[in-house]
Amino acid sequence: MERTLSIVKPDGVARGLIGEVVKRLEANDLKIAAMKMIHMTRSQAEGFYAVHKERPFFGSLTEFMSSGPCVVMVLEGENAIARYRELMGATNYKEADPGTIRADFATDIEKNVVHGSDAPETAAFEMGYFFNSFEIVG
Ligand code: GDP
Repeated sequence: MERTLSIVKPDGVARGLIGEVVKRLEANDLKIAAMKMIHMTRSQAEGFYAVHKERPFFGSLTEFMSSGPCVVMVLEGENAIARYRELMGATNYKEADPGTIRADFATDIEKNVVHGSDAPETAAFEMGYFFNSFEIVG
């Protein structure tokens, strides 16, 4: 059993895609172990994406991520990190496999609807960034 962090980003929430994302998670046996809606400040978004602080898109990304509410979730399942990344599709929606969330709904390399942790270490950091242990059911 593995856990990963999922975010429906501000574009996904604004466009009414929370239910669509949740439907795909549940249909693919990724159990929701925690879930809440948040609206990050700029500095909270900067902390979350600190690993990208040298990238040229850091300013734009953190502005976008703090531009409106997000839904953050902890997902649980066998091989959850890789299986959720497969459901999301490639970062650039133009390269994402057909039928993935990003191929179906993303409009931009940045506004790509969803986030998912990419490794066990980042999943641990990211889940701890938004949830305490009492908020994750298991
Ligand atoms: P992810 O793990 O697939 O989300 O991709 P990364 O960790 O590489 O990037 C984090 C997020 O930064 C992506 O999901 C996009 O929202 C954004 N991003 C990545 N590459 C670019 C880029 O070249 N330009 C812009 N504006 N945003 C990007």
